[in-house]
Parts: sequence; structure tokens; C-alpha cells
Amino acid sequence: MLSYRHGYHAGNHADVLKHWVEVLCIQYMKQKDKPFCYVDSHAGAGLYALFEGFAVKTGEAKQGIGRLWAQKKVPDVFRDYMATVRTFNEKTLKYYPGSPAIAAQLLREDDRLRLVEMHSSDVNLLEQNLGEDPRVKVISGDGFEQIRALLPPSARRGLVLIDPPYELNEDYQYVLQGVQEGLKRFATGTFLIWYPLLSTTASQKFSGQLQKLHGNWLNVQLKVSVKPYGHGMYGSGMFIINPPWLLRDQLLEGLPYLVKLLAQDDAAEFTLEASPAP
Ligand code: SAM
Repeated sequence: MLSYRHGYHAGNHADVLKHWVEVLCIQYMKQKDKPFCYVDSHAGAGLYALFEGFAVKTGEAKQGIGRLWAQKKVPDVFRDYMATVRTFNEKTLKYYPGSPAIAAQLLREDDRLRLVEMHSSDVNLLEQNLGEDPRVKVISGDGFEQIRALLPPSARRGLVLIDPPYELNEDYQYVLQGVQEGLKRFATGTFLIWYPLLSTTASQKFSGQLQKLHGNWLNVQLKVSVKPYGHGMYGSGMFIINPPWLLRDQLLEGLPYLVKLLAQDDAAEFTLEASPAP
């Protein structure tokens, strides 16, 4: 029984980091005039209303995308991300696009989206939100199994987002196995792995475990508050395998701004690590 619903967290600081990186990677893939496939192994509902239901209960978006939305001007490196969010809104920020809606907005006619979701309510919403798009296939099932089934994509170019809830401790292990399997089938693919920063042992050692899977990676962490003693998420990370070559510079350009904007206290900071040069 799955209890996690992304609607509670849509547009929070973790979504901002994740989706900003997603947009930068998609834009890079589009520089080549060849189609590619976007695979989202844990897709969620696709699009979220911020003025009703889950999102209102937590108000998390106000501390995330709400802070960026309130800026008159954002640095260039956030321009495409914010332009994408704007396409779902008019003057007021009412909707937040999840990773599938962001990808659908940016991908081209010949590109393809494969969206996997396990929660029956979210699969239905995903189908309603994006199912009619001829480039999209919504798959109801286990994202970790589907990584194996969907890779390599027939286009032989692809971006794979792995974004589970990590409610179960096993998720960390499943991600490591999924990435290993994915790389066996699709060694040249770009893999984007989101993970929470928590004080648990599983979370603390996770990026070190990811680093052992491949020789070409970037690991970015955005901490928005002081590391808690309890169970709360104090930030999140994105681990990128086979990153676009410009991504490191783009992250370095945008992260100081993001830290300042999304900080909850003076402990906010970012770290950016890269694999050692071959
Ligand atoms: N990627 C989405 C985005 O950025 O908009 C958010 C995804 S949310 C963090 C994680 C999603 O994974 C939830 O909707 C949850 O129902 C789903 N989920 C949990 N376990 C899953 C599994 N084994 N396979 C596929 N989806 C799963």
C-alpha cells in the first residue's frame, strides 16, 4: 500500500532543484537534431494545483517555487525552468508542473515520454493530464522493473529520471540496483537520481554508493536548513550520471542564488562534487 502523494510536496525546495536540473538536461539533449526518449520511473500525477487539496495543507510550495515566482528577474540559468512553470500559470502561481509535465512541455514532436507510476490515483491523474499526448505512454507499474523493460530506448538517446519517495528504506537499494541494470542496458544514457537529505544512515551514505556505479557523474546537494536531529528533510540531492558537459558550470552559476533564495536559516549551503577526471 503506497501512502506517499507528491501533491503534498509539489513545488517545494526539492522539486525546484530537481526540475531545474531536469530542464537544463532536456535543453542540452535538444541541442542535437536527433530525437530522444525521456523516461520517468516514478512520475507522480504530472501536474499539481497549488490552491486546493494536498498542497494547501502543507504550504511547501510557498517556500520553494513561490520564492522564485516572486522575483522580478531570475538569473539566466533559471530562465527556461521559470518559463516552463509560467506556461501553466497566468499572473498568479496556481499550478506546478511535475517532472512529466515539464518534459512534455519541452520535448519535441519526435521525442518520446515513458511515464511510470504505481499509485492508482496518480496513474489516473497522469493519464488525464498527459495521456492524450501522442508522444506519451503512461505505464501503470513498478518503476524499478520498468527501467529494465524500457531501456535502451529505440532512439538510443535518452534521459532517465529516478525519483522514488524513499518512504521505504529499501528504495535506496532498489535505486542502486535499478541504476546498475539501467547502465548495463543503456551505458550512454543520462540518469538523474533525486534523493532526500535526512539524518538516517541510509540517506547519509547513499551518494557515496551511487559514486561507485559509474566513472562520470555530478553530485549536487542543496541544504536549506540546519541538519535536524529528527526525521525531517533538510535538503536534497541530484546525482547525475553521464551529465551534459555544460551542466557543472550551469549549476555553479545558479546554486549560490538558489541557496540564498531558498534558505530557511543560516546553515543553508550547496555542495557540488564531480567524478575525478579519467
Ligand atoms: N517525479 C515526480 C515529479 O518530479 O513531479 C514526483 C514523483 S514522487 C517523488 C514519487 C512517486 O513515485 C509517487 O507518485 C509514488 O506514488 C510513486 N511510486 C512509489 N513507488 C513506486 C514504484 N515502485 N514504481 C513507480 N512509482 C512508484
